[in-house]
Amino acid sequence: MAKVKNWQLGREMDFPYPEHRPKKQIAYVFDTNKCIACQTCTMACKTTWTVGKGQEYVFWNNVESKPWGYYPLGWDVKVLELLGQQKWDGDKYAGKTIFEAAPKGEPALGYAPEDLDYASPNLGEDECKDVIKGTEDHYIKGPVHSNWGFYLARICNHCTYPACVAACPRKAIYKRDEDGIVLVDQSRCRGYRECVKACPYKKPYYNNTTRVSEKCIACYPKVENSEMPQCVTTCIGKIRLQGFKSHPDKIRKNNPMDYLIHVRKIALPLYAQLGTEPNVYYIPPMHVDPKYLKQMFGPGAEKAVQMYRNAGQDKELLAALLLFGSTEKRIEAFKIKGEMTVGYDKDGKEIVSVPLTEPAIVRPAKVEQSGAYLYNNT
Ligand code: SF4
Ligand code: SF4
Repeated sequence: MAKVKNWQLGREMDFPYPEHRPKKQIAYVFDTNKCIACQTCTMACKTTWTVGKGQEYVFWNNVESKPWGYYPLGWDVKVLELLGQQKWDGDKYAGKTIFEAAPKGEPALGYAPEDLDYASPNLGEDECKDVIKGTEDHYIKGPVHSNWGFYLARICNHCTYPACVAACPRKAIYKRDEDGIVLVDQSRCRGYRECVKACPYKKPYYNNTTRVSEKCIACYPKVENSEMPQCVTTCIGKIRLQGFKSHPDKIRKNNPMDYLIHVRKIALPLYAQLGTEPNVYYIPPMHVDPKYLKQMFGPGAEKAVQMYRNAGQDKELLAALLLFGSTEKRIEAFKIKGEMTVGYDKDGKEIVSVPLTEPAIVRPAKVEQSGAYLYNNT
């Protein structure tokens, strides 16, 4: 194994290949506080890419209800249990990653989900266990539901250290140098499913009709055209922003991705302790047990929540947050112009502007032309 630098862990770690960062790295920020689990993203992805035979169970994008929801069933609980104790020493991860904890001769610690783990996406995830406690014949058994919950939207993380790449004996999975997107070369894949076993996020899927593995392709034809992927542009809750992020040593403050991830550190990786350096970043949910948040989003989670609570008074942060869902084009830079936040494309052309404060318009109670009165029924 080579020694590589993982900035999310604040230390070096073992990885089967030497460190190689692409020229550009695709990244996403998802604001968990705004997701309403409408599944529009799931359906937009499904109808665009995975409508073929053998893909019936495939959800490159899925949205699960935490803490009880998963797809496939129990994926994160199983991976975290296999990994054992995970400890942070300040901002430095003091436990083992899936590469460091791999059994001898294997590239990564992992498990292969059973077919039944994919059988019932979202079924019963939002049930409140308090209500059904003692209902013996109910299909959900388990501990009493906590009085908090949130929706976690998930796609392939296009990791910097992808476990799927590490595990593929055919070298069929590769990370593109121009944008960091991780793809499966289907002509090389022989369907051994090592990627399915190794990916801790369980995002490669085996197609038993074509007999090869498939995974999220980050809508690369759109990305190449400076547009954001389907799951981003269709998002009803406007929870998503996609762009390119820089290495923490070379950040550009006016790049909204760098600003949210590196400057403000409000957007955090999911289960960074697994060691793949995932590139989907999450603004953690408010109203959730801080211990749970720390396990899921790392030691910066509580601070990120505080920052989010204060966003209304934090003009620059608000300016970045208001860009979410504002345009289909990729925003490469942003700045505040008067009372607007303005987004620019790669050529410096203005592509979107959003008011920092929604104007409140009060209509007069009486319409002068008609003499009619308007009543506010609310
Ligand atoms: S999330 Fe999984 S499938 Fe996607 S790049 Fe990372 S290891 Fe590979
Ligand atoms: S479309 Fe947006 S709001 Fe709806 S489930 Fe997907 S991420 Fe959440």
